[in-house]
This record gives sequence, structure tokens and C-alpha cells, in this order.
Amino acid sequence: MLKKIEESIRYVNKQSRFLNGKRSRFNKKIKLCYSKNTKIALSWSGGKDSYLLLQKAIENGFKIKFLFNLIDKEKKISITPPYNKELMVLQSKALGLPLRQIDLSGNPRGKFKEFVVSVKNQGIDTLGMGYIGLKGQREFVQDTAIEAKIDVFEPLCSIDQKELLKEVIKHKIKPLIISVDYKKMSKMWLGKVVNNNFLNYLDKIKNVSYCGERGEFQTLVVDAPFFKKKIIMENYTPVKVDDHYYLYVNKAKLIEKPCRRTYILHLDGPCNQRCLFCMKSDDIENKPKKSYDSVIEEIQKAASSGYAIIDFYGGEPTTYLFLKDIICFANKLGLEATLATNAIMFSSKDYTKDFFNAVNLMGIRVSLHSYNPKIHDKITQIQGSWEKTIKGIRNILKFNKRLSVNIVITSLNYNQLPEITEFVHSLGVKGIKFSGLYSVGRILKNKDLCVDHSLFMPYLKKALKLSKKLNFFLIEIEKMPKEILKDNIFKNVRYIEDL
Ligand code: SF4
Repeated sequence: MLKKIEESIRYVNKQSRFLNGKRSRFNKKIKLCYSKNTKIALSWSGGKDSYLLLQKAIENGFKIKFLFNLIDKEKKISITPPYNKELMVLQSKALGLPLRQIDLSGNPRGKFKEFVVSVKNQGIDTLGMGYIGLKGQREFVQDTAIEAKIDVFEPLCSIDQKELLKEVIKHKIKPLIISVDYKKMSKMWLGKVVNNNFLNYLDKIKNVSYCGERGEFQTLVVDAPFFKKKIIMENYTPVKVDDHYYLYVNKAKLIEKPCRRTYILHLDGPCNQRCLFCMKSDDIENKPKKSYDSVIEEIQKAASSGYAIIDFYGGEPTTYLFLKDIICFANKLGLEATLATNAIMFSSKDYTKDFFNAVNLMGIRVSLHSYNPKIHDKITQIQGSWEKTIKGIRNILKFNKRLSVNIVITSLNYNQLPEITEFVHSLGVKGIKFSGLYSVGRILKNKDLCVDHSLFMPYLKKALKLSKKLNFFLIEIEKMPKEILKDNIFKNVRYIEDL
């Protein structure tokens, strides 16, 4: 087995040279500016550079059609490290992007050229390449691309290598070091993840490129912001071949990621209600509506900073005509989405159908403050809002069952919390949230709505007991002092720290 692995590694090292050009020059015909939604096929070899290429393609607004990885079908291996081609399949599943494995066996240059032509014939305008230096491989790809009349996106070439490595660390990308040249650096780094300690180590040793461009080290990304799942190694073999130690991964699998951080996207902008306690009233009245481009940029930043969920929060998000598009965009980046709304817009069946046919929401929170229309309308200051919200809830439930109702506790409803809970359940809703109030925004002019914790607590406890009995899938409290959690009634109730 070990012998076979050694042979594979030597074979790959030899094969990859076939893809090199003869000269080392930069081809000025290569396009440097790209328009949004340009279709791209991205080279993928599983390491940190491939991942950075993917990230830059997303940041530049490319439409990623597929990843491609070069393999030798006869030898059953990947032509780039980490050699085991199944690992790339796991990465593509983790990313939720299709992977095409391109067989170069027998004739690497000819088959690569054929592949590039076929990409162009599929209506894909650009090839994304993750090489860094002005190496021969770049030359070969550029010449091939020019022949096939396809552009090349090669964003890593112009960036300083130390800066690139810093970017990897900053974006919480986890590349595992799978090979080290032991003549140039310590073999203790084999199997470790690239981090600040590794960067400090590289600072101290001489004649080593920060991205391992001279073969000093190679990596395999096992987790990253755009990975919906992460990879764990189940079986691997350290192998010594010539000047290198390799970590040959025989078996790996995908597992769920434990931490799923939420980014609150404050859309601000207008609202179709005027709630007496609105904490966002200053933003609603004074801040301009956000533009589509600025929201897209915010989502991209959240994704590349490692957030897994985006919560679309108002004003009232449905006042944005492009709400559907930005949620779809977040979904495409692999982010889960949640939405906070007063559901007025969802009182239209057509709007609801159109909306849920386009987007994928993992949760939706609807504000409803009473079973009594008069009390709810008094709070929202919109006649008929209760009726529309109830219609909206019913319409939403036809498409998404992960609906949770948010009840803001005020002097107008605190003593009805158990009855409101019962009413919410009767609508078919299975999630509930009880929210306190902060003295921010419009409540400052309506202080009589504030109610002391000691006064509402008995009703809240009854409502929580009932919610548990009614088997709500989600029971939450928010904007309440943490000390109350000592009481046993708050067991299995999710406490939200702050928005
Ligand atoms: S629905 Fe929300 S954003 Fe709109 S006024 Fe009421 S509290 Fe403010």
C-alpha cells in the first residue's frame, strides 16, 4: 500500500509538469475587469489557494457554474495534491457546488485544451485559476485560453504571498498542511492547520515562500466560511517521498459544523406600521433605504467572515422590492436565512406564493401582540393590521412551518399572555417568543406601555408552561434580565442575549 502511494505521488509530480508553458511572461490580452454574473468554471485542487480563488470569484459577483479538478482516471488519482480525488468530491459537497473531474490520462496538454474548448462551448465565459506566481503553468493556461477565446480570472497572481496567507487566517479558512519539504522546514507542521503560529514560524525561517509556491508545503481545506459541513480525516498515512513528508488521506467524511453564527442584517428603511414601542423608529425615520448593491456587499462580507445564517431585519423587510433577490443571493452563498416581519405583505396570497417559491427560509418571525384585534391595532397604530397579519400568518404556514410569533409584552397585553399563547397555537403556529422592551425609540414617547417584570412574570410563567405543554418547537425570551433564568420554568427556553 505504502509503495503504491509513493508511486502515485512521484507520478503526479511528474505529470503536473506537462501543464507548464515554456516561457514566463504575463499575457496582456488577459482581461482584468469582469462584469457581475459572468459565468465561470473554477479550478479546484482542494488547497488554500483554490478556496481563496472561490472567495474572490464570489466577491467579484461571478456566477460559479462548476469546479473542476484534474485527475488521472487510469491511476485513479487527482493530478494535484492531496492525490485522493474523493476528497475533492467531499469539498464540493461541503460547498454545495458541482465538481467535474477532468481526466488527463495519457495526454495531459491535449486533454486540458479539449476541456477548455468544451467549457467555452457551454456558454461559460471565464476560467478561474488559483495559481499564484508567474509560473509556467500560468503561461500554458493563458495560451490555451486565448486559443479557445475564453477569459482567465487569476486574482491571486498580483497579491503579495504573505498578505494572501494573512487573508486565509483572517477569513477563518482551515487549511490542513498535507505536505512539507523537510529540508526547508520542520516536519512537525505536517497535519497542522495554517494559523498565526505557522505564519510566525515562516517569518523566522529563510528562503521559504509564504504560500508554499516552491513546494515547501501543500494544504487541504477542511473547513471554511462557505463550507456548509466540515471534513474530518478518518484514516491517513504519513509518507516520505524524496525531500517531502506527505499526509496521504485514505478516508475522510463530512460532519455537521457545531457553531452556526447569525449575522443580523439591519435593512432599516420604512415600515408599514407605526408601533408605539418601535425601537427602530429613529432609523426608520432618519436613515435612507439601503441600495441593492450595498446589501449584496454586506451579505458577501458576512459570508466571508464565517457567518452561517443571515437574519433579515427591518424596518419592515418586505418594503424592499428586492427582498426575494437578496435572500436568494444569501441562499446561493450557502447561507441560511431568517426573516423578521409583521406579515402585512403576506396577507396577499400571490405575494406569499411568489416569495416562497423563490426563497428558502430556515425561520420566520411574525410580530403579533394580541388575540384581540383592537389591542394589536392600537399598538401598531394601523387600523386592520391584526386582520392582515393573521391572514399573512395563515398564508405563510402553507409554505413554511418554521414560523414563530413574536409577542412584545406591554401594559396592554401582559395579563393575556397565556390566552395569546393559546390563540397562536390555534393558528397552527409552533414557535413563540416573548419579548421585553428597551427604552429606545418611540417607546420614549409612550412610557405608559412599559410594564415592570415583577408584574408580567406570573403571566409569562403560565404562558411558558402552556407553550411547553402545547409542544412548541421553539420557545424564546428576549430583552429580559438574565437573573430570571434561575427559575426552573426557563429550562428549555432559549434566552436571546440581544439583537
Ligand atoms: S413592525 Fe417593527 S419596525 Fe415596524 S413599526 Fe412595528 S416594531 Fe417598528
